[in-house]
Amino acid sequence: MKVYDHPTFAMACRQFDLVADLLDIPSVERDRLKFPKRAMTVALPIQRDNGNVEVFTGYRVQHHLTLGPTKGGLRYHPDVTLGEVAALAMWMSWKCALTGLPYGGAKGGITCDPHSLSTKELERLTRRFTQEMIPFIGPQMDVMAPDVGTNEQVMAWMMDTYSVHMGYTIPSIVTGKPVSIGGSVGRREATGRGVSYLINRAMDTIGLDPNRATAVVQGFGNVGSVTAFSLAKYGVKVIAVSDASGGIFNQAGIDLRRLEEHVDRTRAVSGFDGGEPLSNQQLLKTPCDILVPAALERQIDETNAPKLQCRILAEAANGPTTPAADAILDQRHEIFVLPDILCNAGGVVVSYFEWVQDLQSFFWTESEVADKLFRILESAFVQTLNYSRKHNVSMRMAALSLGVSRVREAKRLRGLFP
Ligand code: NAD
Repeated sequence: MKVYDHPTFAMACRQFDLVADLLDIPSVERDRLKFPKRAMTVALPIQRDNGNVEVFTGYRVQHHLTLGPTKGGLRYHPDVTLGEVAALAMWMSWKCALTGLPYGGAKGGITCDPHSLSTKELERLTRRFTQEMIPFIGPQMDVMAPDVGTNEQVMAWMMDTYSVHMGYTIPSIVTGKPVSIGGSVGRREATGRGVSYLINRAMDTIGLDPNRATAVVQGFGNVGSVTAFSLAKYGVKVIAVSDASGGIFNQAGIDLRRLEEHVDRTRAVSGFDGGEPLSNQQLLKTPCDILVPAALERQIDETNAPKLQCRILAEAANGPTTPAADAILDQRHEIFVLPDILCNAGGVVVSYFEWVQDLQSFFWTESEVADKLFRILESAFVQTLNYSRKHNVSMRMAALSLGVSRVREAKRLRGLFP
């Protein structure tokens, strides 16, 4: 489908085709599994603070509706396109199926630089987008959550706009809301905590002692920062961190609390005085035990994959590794890969918990959330590892095979209408 043309969508399709070959899926079934069910593009005129009207573009892609409502984040970033959103929606489908959630995948986004908009402008943009989406979303249709460039406040505005339109409060329309309006405790930290739980399992699997291990984290937003702090709790020393502004390196370990204060104050990692500056490309090649890409897609490609110097590659971001890089990593048996759809699944798992709590108006404690989260991640980790060993395929192929087969089975059982 030409409408989705984008390198990230091509990458998601390439991964799907490799899995389809592995699973011997007949060609007649492939397009039905691969292409999104629905894609919306909307024009979003808003009034800027200076009185001018500007039109932004928003997208929502719902990948499949076979297992329940669709679920997925909303991204605010200047590079958002329909194709990128479609790829992210496809990955959400395999991720939800891998972890056994009753959802299809979705993703949305607005092409904008949220840092260049005032809070009032962001609110107007978010409310306008939500209004345009009303025919296509609902607690039983499609439920959004935060992603790059969005946060709890954005979710609160979406929930308010939808509720005002319907005439009563409907917290289950979005997840990742503030706890005081129906969010779940532990949701904001869920993705990063899940990433570090799985890294701990990977360390155990390859016999790496956390107290002697070092980590490098690309991206210091929600996922990257929580992962860094959680790894430190496991005893791991975080030696390099970056964000869009650049990175810093300190072999003795970065003082994460001071870094967080610096980022809160300046909104950038660069300029922090607790380490040496380094570029994002240097950061990826830094010798370490654990490398955590937690920013954007396609960061690890065929040019830097041969130069990675880590034992564990933990894909906290969605789609950080291209298929060409994968082919190289497949030959580098010393690197244990935690593929994205497994590694960052903690976010959607606790989003599912939030949705369930909202539907029941019955809220859980933080330890109940953490306990249930780790059980689901543990099960997905063990299933993926066992599949990978049994079929002698990479962890990515194993995770994708499990996810794709479950969606395929659901489609087979439901049949083709009419
Ligand atoms: P965020 O907006 O909170 O943070 C993104 C971070 O990446 C920022 O620190 C930003 O400066 C940095 N960044 C952007 N471009 C960069 C570049 N070129 N090089 C280095 N750093 C760069 O977003 P987030 O929610 O932390 O999401 C990060 C990744 O995790 C995304 O791939 C997202 O899809 C994925 N993810 C997020 C969640 C979630 O719950 N938020 C769940 C699953 C997966």
